[in-house]
Amino acid sequence: MDQPFLITCLDCAYQTLYIPTQTICPKCGGTWREARYDLSILAGKMLAKISGRDFGLWRYQELLPLRSDVTIPILGEGGTPLLHAANLGMMLGNPNIFIKDERRGPTHSFKDRQAAVNIAVLKSAGVSEMVLASTGNVAIAFSAYAARAGIKLWAFLTSLVPPEKMREVTLYGTQVIKVTASYDQAKQIAAEFARQRGLFFETGARNIASVEAMKTIAYEIAEQLGNIEAGFGFTSGGQYANQSDSLGNHLRWRAPDWYIQAVSGGLGPLGVQKGFRELKDIGLIQRLPAMANIQTEGCAPMVQAFHEKLETVRPVLSPRTHISTLSTGNPGRTYSLLYQRMQAEGGGIFESVSDEEAIRAMHILAKMEGISVEPATGVAFAGLIKLIRNGVIMPDEVVVVNCSGHTMPVELTALGETWIGNVIEPDETPEEGLLAALSRLSVARYPRILIVDDTPDARRLVRRILQSQGAYTIYEAEDGRAGLELATRQLPDLIILDLMMPEIDGFGVLDQLKEKPETASIPVIVVTAKELTGAEKKRLEGRIQGLMQKGEFLNNELLDEVRTLVK
Ligand SMILES: *Cc1c(COP(=O)(O)O)cnc(C)c1O
Ligand SMILES: [Zn+2]
Repeated sequence: MDQPFLITCLDCAYQTLYIPTQTICPKCGGTWREARYDLSILAGKMLAKISGRDFGLWRYQELLPLRSDVTIPILGEGGTPLLHAANLGMMLGNPNIFIKDERRGPTHSFKDRQAAVNIAVLKSAGVSEMVLASTGNVAIAFSAYAARAGIKLWAFLTSLVPPEKMREVTLYGTQVIKVTASYDQAKQIAAEFARQRGLFFETGARNIASVEAMKTIAYEIAEQLGNIEAGFGFTSGGQYANQSDSLGNHLRWRAPDWYIQAVSGGLGPLGVQKGFRELKDIGLIQRLPAMANIQTEGCAPMVQAFHEKLETVRPVLSPRTHISTLSTGNPGRTYSLLYQRMQAEGGGIFESVSDEEAIRAMHILAKMEGISVEPATGVAFAGLIKLIRNGVIMPDEVVVVNCSGHTMPVELTALGETWIGNVIEPDETPEEGLLAALSRLSVARYPRILIVDDTPDARRLVRRILQSQGAYTIYEAEDGRAGLELATRQLPDLIILDLMMPEIDGFGVLDQLKEKPETASIPVIVVTAKELTGAEKKRLEGRIQGLMQKGEFLNNELLDEVRTLVK
């Protein structure tokens, strides 16, 4: 850790260093904490370097919770365009509407930011397996990043998540648990599953990395608006260009008057508001934008609480909306924090629109601006239309709408039905029944595979190949001795064995396995980097079930072998 930033508990104000896997306050056990930076030092550092950096999320790395050993960027996250919506503006009588096109992230929603920062810090912390619950897009984004980082992901999705999204998640090799329950219930079940197994669980607004990731939307918007103002004026449109003056200094930053987003759990606006607050503390912008948080009528606990001037929400137990992305019935303390912070500075509103209005807005946006969005994003645009019509947003105000996500492209036919294999549907009855069903999905039921290889990267690759295509319990041994010990202790269903290892090599391991009656019949696949001599081949003959050359086998070849050997 090389940066002067600390995590502050929102309940007892106790401060700690940032440890990605530590999710509670060590003093009071509170789960609501916030990253605080020494802006006088870190902002200066960032601004000194910023004009030389690509326009993207890592541009602001001094103000992100990163450790020095994090490798970035991962998939090209952030740096999305800010588009001027001239036609929509003409229609609505507001020439200053801008669209932050978050569809352009690697998996087509703004959840890519959350996944990128989380996976970067978790990988550097040595996490190899994690759990989340999602209404779809979080699972898709984390799946892509987890695949690249070789992290095994368990995603709990409600059965309302559209099949196209579920398919996308499984394509990346994530293990999906399909839960016939509300999203809030799915979250609880996933949290319990993670707790029982001691796995990292993504908690959204309570997770430092997630909030910090979202704030980069605010930073980017302020830079882009500043440049548009400096270079083009607000009404002429055009895309952001990374401008700097003759000395290479970045020109200026500017906050919009409004930030509009479709809201479910509220992580986005919470992070974005924090981002603008930090920019103001640094002195880069004059004031915070008003936040317009738009929910769908069938699931609008925040809007309800706001209208009643309440600081806490009453949960919506059975959301009635077709827009599953926005089905958080209980946003809990995220709402309270957002409400309090909006009251304290910047202001804003919570408003709802109907599913029908959202679908209509989708059509308008596609036909007027050439931008195709998913229904959840339609909610934000329906909110924009409503707030301008109602005179809440004034004609001359500068508005930025978070264009949060794209409708999934239709690769359905190309993928066929193979994705079904990665979805587990526990036969379930509500509540305790479901948890009970999940515990039957216990580790013990999975085929157990032992990987014996002295190269960590090789073990990681084989583990990744196996875990991306099915449920296996995997043991790893870093040399022959440890391999023999594990084989005797665990009696795995299959051993994947490297040949060249120090001390006891693969041949030696094989000899000893065959000597003991309990391990003699365990099937063995040899994976080797070595071109075998005739004599060596003879030594293996009849004693192994498969032989593969490292660097020459494809995922499915290894998997086919594995599948024929373990049932
Ligand atoms: C997650 C999501 C939202 C809601 O965002 P929150 O900040 O979590 O409330 C809106 N639109 C899309 C496309 C999303 O994926
Ligand atoms: Zn505390």
